[in-house]
Amino acid sequence: MGIAEWRARLRQGEVSARELTQSHLDRIAAVDPTVHAFLEVTGERALASADRIDAARAAGQELPPLAGIPLAIKDNLCTKGIRTTCSSRMLGQFVPPYESTVTERLWDAGAVLVGKTNLDEFAMGSSTETSAFGPSRNPWDPERVPGGSSGGSAAAVAAGECLAALGSDTGGSIRQPASFCGVVGLKPTYGRVSRWGLVAFASSLDQVGPFTTSVADAAEILQVIAGADRRDGTCLQAPVPDYSAALGRPVKGLRVGLIRECFDQPGLDPAVKASVLAAAQRLEALGCELVEVSCPRFDDGIATYYVIAPSEASANLARYDGVKYGYRAAAPEGGDSLATMTARSRAEGFGEEVQRRILIGTYALSAGYVDAYYRKAQQVRTLIRRDFERAFEAVDVLLSPTSPTTAFRFGAHRDDPLAMYLADLLTIPANLAGLPALSLPCGFDAQGLPIGLQLIGGVLQEEQLLQVAHAYESDARVMDNRPAAALVA
Ligand code: GLN
Repeated sequence: MGIAEWRARLRQGEVSARELTQSHLDRIAAVDPTVHAFLEVTGERALASADRIDAARAAGQELPPLAGIPLAIKDNLCTKGIRTTCSSRMLGQFVPPYESTVTERLWDAGAVLVGKTNLDEFAMGSSTETSAFGPSRNPWDPERVPGGSSGGSAAAVAAGECLAALGSDTGGSIRQPASFCGVVGLKPTYGRVSRWGLVAFASSLDQVGPFTTSVADAAEILQVIAGADRRDGTCLQAPVPDYSAALGRPVKGLRVGLIRECFDQPGLDPAVKASVLAAAQRLEALGCELVEVSCPRFDDGIATYYVIAPSEASANLARYDGVKYGYRAAAPEGGDSLATMTARSRAEGFGEEVQRRILIGTYALSAGYVDAYYRKAQQVRTLIRRDFERAFEAVDVLLSPTSPTTAFRFGAHRDDPLAMYLADLLTIPANLAGLPALSLPCGFDAQGLPIGLQLIGGVLQEEQLLQVAHAYESDARVMDNRPAAALVA
């Protein structure tokens, strides 16, 4: 059942918010020792919020849209009074004194926080293996990663530990784990959703979005979190349409573009390719027109991203100096200088991948290299965006696989960070161009692992993305024929 069905049952009193919350807390207690989606479960707070909703209903008050819906939040979104660690030792004890805009909007809409979810440290990674607190496991196969960086959120939704979750996507961190875990993940247009209270990774790319078990639920969550915020200067003023209203509209006549470069990748798993092409044919059968388009600069996305994202990260992470807040290394006997205290705090507080990004970014921004690397990357970024603009002159939405492979095993890329970076090949270009993009399940490989289909829309075209995704989902009914998996709800 989705959010709309639970809302109806809650309003009719067929189930109480406490019962719904308790059933999810029970599910967490049963499966999370294996899945490890959560860094912290906020059971007491969840039951208290649920009781308030039940009391409001008993008093005859009108319930807000997400009243009683149990949600999980990626642990890089600030929650007032609740530890927000970014899966880093650096913020291991950080309790934010303020609430992020997106979570504030969810609580105002009546949603119930069940806990904070695991991620790659500071959202840098594609597997949750860089978390300082241990990885999460994929509910479809606990020997495999759930994807990343929002792997905890994706796994929590797939395992039925919450009805929906929030993640953040800088280079694919919502879509890739959604693909690996067989759920829906939506990265909105850059600026559609406020970043206030999202711990910054790469500020020109970061965007918050939902994980859900259906496209309709993604529309519900986006509805609540989208919209202008005076506390985030990059947040767009554009009015927020009624996303759910877009869902039933017929897709006949819409032009769907297959990005040639995505299907030509040498690393593309044949099972993934076949499943995504079959999904495209299904859309054609529903009346969409399939058009092959070319984005010649698509392949430059990774190189461009791995200059821009680390550069911005190196600037954003400079604030963790061991002085104002965050981890501070113990002083040696006889005291310490400010410089060595800062250096030691950062060496001990940040994991290897975060340090690697800071070094790359600092190098790319340093005098003498900034023109060759950072400025050049910004120029290529413009070319990538223009490729998309040209493509959207011919089509309404673009279609590709979300990830070149299904979920890989733990340690598969342990000694090869470049191989891990390549996993983001298909998701990164949408971040560089600021475009909305969504992943939804389209099939399974021979091991029974979910495959994700990516749809990319024009700027602020979330409605159209949801419309096409919903049409596909209702027709294909992929989850009706899913393989059995003990940890999947
Ligand atoms: N996997 C990519 C990275 O490591 C993207 C991460 C993200 O979107 N936060 O940077």
